[in-house]
Amino acid sequence: MKLTIKVDPDLCIGAASCVTIAPETFQLNEENKAYVLDHGQEPPPRTYERVIEVTPEEKDNLIMAAQSCPTLAIYIIDEKGKQLFPEM
Ligand code: SF4
Repeated sequence: MKLTIKVDPDLCIGAASCVTIAPETFQLNEENKAYVLDHGQEPPPRTYERVIEVTPEEKDNLIMAAQSCPTLAIYIIDEKGKQLFPEM
């Protein structure tokens, strides 16, 4: 399945718990904001939002990473446009 992963850089405080849980998807940039990779790859442009293909296990791990964010700066949206986290 494909998921849209978004980080709100205005909310991100660089706590890096997302990077610890899902380093293949989140890394910190020079401004200490998490940006989004595709399975460890960083296809240009470097971005706070990316659509990536994930397995069910990877999806669960990404939701865990989003839950770990102290400022809820990570949004996860499914193929139908439904926001999976934070739950609405
Ligand atoms: S856990 Fe949240 S605040 Fe910390 S780096 Fe990731 S997005 Fe930013």
